[in-house]
Amino acid sequence: MYRNYTCGELRLAHVGQEPVLAGWVQTVRNHGAMTFVDIRDRYGITQLVADENTPLAMKELVDKLGREYVIQVKGTVRERSSKNPKIPTGEIELDIKELTVLNKAAVPPFTIQDDSDGGDELRMKFRYLDLRREAVRKNLELRARMAHVVRNYLNNLQFIETETPVLIKSTPEGARDFVVPSRMNPNQFYALPQSPQIFKQLLMVAGFDRYYQIVKCFRDEDLRADRQPEFTQIDCEMSFVKQEDVLNTFEGLARHIFIEIKGIDPGDFPRMTFAYAMENYGCDKPDLRFGMIFKDLTNIVKGKDFKLFDDSECVVGICVPGCGEYTRKQLDALTELVKRPQVGAKGIVHAKVNDDGSVKSSVDKYYTQVELGKWRDIFGAKPGDLILILYGEKERTLPALSVLRLEMGRQCGLMDRDNFKPLWVVDFPLLEWNEESGRFHAMHHPFTSPKPEDILLLDSDPGKVRANAYDLVINGVEIGGGSVRIFDSELQAKMFKTLGFTKQEADNQFGFLMEAFKYGAPPHAGIAFGFDRLVSMFAGLDSIRDVIAFPKNNSGRDVMNDSPSEIAQIQLDELFLSLVTPKGKS
Ligand code: ASP
Repeated sequence: MYRNYTCGELRLAHVGQEPVLAGWVQTVRNHGAMTFVDIRDRYGITQLVADENTPLAMKELVDKLGREYVIQVKGTVRERSSKNPKIPTGEIELDIKELTVLNKAAVPPFTIQDDSDGGDELRMKFRYLDLRREAVRKNLELRARMAHVVRNYLNNLQFIETETPVLIKSTPEGARDFVVPSRMNPNQFYALPQSPQIFKQLLMVAGFDRYYQIVKCFRDEDLRADRQPEFTQIDCEMSFVKQEDVLNTFEGLARHIFIEIKGIDPGDFPRMTFAYAMENYGCDKPDLRFGMIFKDLTNIVKGKDFKLFDDSECVVGICVPGCGEYTRKQLDALTELVKRPQVGAKGIVHAKVNDDGSVKSSVDKYYTQVELGKWRDIFGAKPGDLILILYGEKERTLPALSVLRLEMGRQCGLMDRDNFKPLWVVDFPLLEWNEESGRFHAMHHPFTSPKPEDILLLDSDPGKVRANAYDLVINGVEIGGGSVRIFDSELQAKMFKTLGFTKQEADNQFGFLMEAFKYGAPPHAGIAFGFDRLVSMFAGLDSIRDVIAFPKNNSGRDVMNDSPSEIAQIQLDELFLSLVTPKGKS
């Protein structure tokens, strides 16, 4: 037995007992006659003491301990004279009786404590040391708890947890595949799954009825804070269900997680159509923690000789409560923000409501007080409020106003991380036009069912077809998405055709799915949640990296084991691969 207590467990009630602890040396504080050692494990920290009553040899051993040494210690629990209210074991200490160094440790490259002195790169390189820090470990503990809660909920509802293969045929979901060469099948490749989409649908054909899996997915995309090349989904599929059944089941799952993990019931999730979200929030993942809903002024501002508005397809704005006193400098900074090429607005027209209700705008020259009063009324603006208006093409202006809205939410402190506002966004378009390829792409994926009433439009006006597809959005983040599936091989073939696949391409890539659909495919639908995002949101973090034990950096590298890396010539030969020098490198 290495230990009979953990380092987070001892209290005043244990005074007089002689427990054995094992863990890592966090600090050694030598005050001459007395030496204090903090011993740490996953559960906490306990103070050890060697003093004048400790045998000399033992005291010397204690004084020689280095940071992160692994030790085993037996001692008598006693009450501390100066207590530390910050830690649960802060009222006691352990008077060292026996001490064994189980393993020495090299001096760690950074201090292993909450406010570490290590920079990002260094902590990633020594991730196993970083994971010793409570601040990091507790995110992974939360992750494990959440996975457990998810499994409980789904198991109770008779979902069958099923593993699907990792070496698969490419599943087109819009991203690039990671591919794996096959030694036994020269010049042929597997792909790593972007999701288990086709397999879960085949499980429905197989009669599994309710499937789930907490599963790694792989997408070869450019990385951002909320993206990793490998990430985890809670992947689910159900048979004999309609959209409403899926939404209810998984709203239940989300609510269960909120209740179990956060102790809060977010209530019923509102539902919003994609079209409504775009018109009123300028994006398909609205942050509902605050209002500032878009108001369209297009029809009332034209014809007053103000050219910028006259020439614009759309004039639309938000009312920001209490920001009427924004300075020139603050307003200029907002203008700069929206004029950035990624945002693409032309400028901001602003107005503020004075104490007497009159309106002072940046375009007073063109509009009378009566007209400006109409603006105020449309926005429901109160004295002290700021109205911000963007103008231009609708397609650019609405998303640009969305960026501005979020910025104002941030500046006004309305994005409280502990305030959770989930909603369903429904009725996504089935297809979106892709300029580059000159054809339609599936907005969700090619297996998504059009709304039955829109099927006729597939031939005449494909861009107008709405899908039975839905997203779960929380606080402006897409947490999950799914759809009702096509389960008829003819409709699926038509969909592939609309997406520009020749019959041969469709057969080659998806022949097996269409074949399966001939053998009695049930109506089915499903959803997948981004598990990393969900955990990072619950942990109050911006980056999913912090909730992944061994994440990759922004260039997709694991800096700890330095991968990806070259492989030996013999491996290349076995795989019939030869290396080429990428363009621009020598
Ligand atoms: N496979 C989809 C995705 O990964 C989710 C789904 O439709 O169930 O986004």
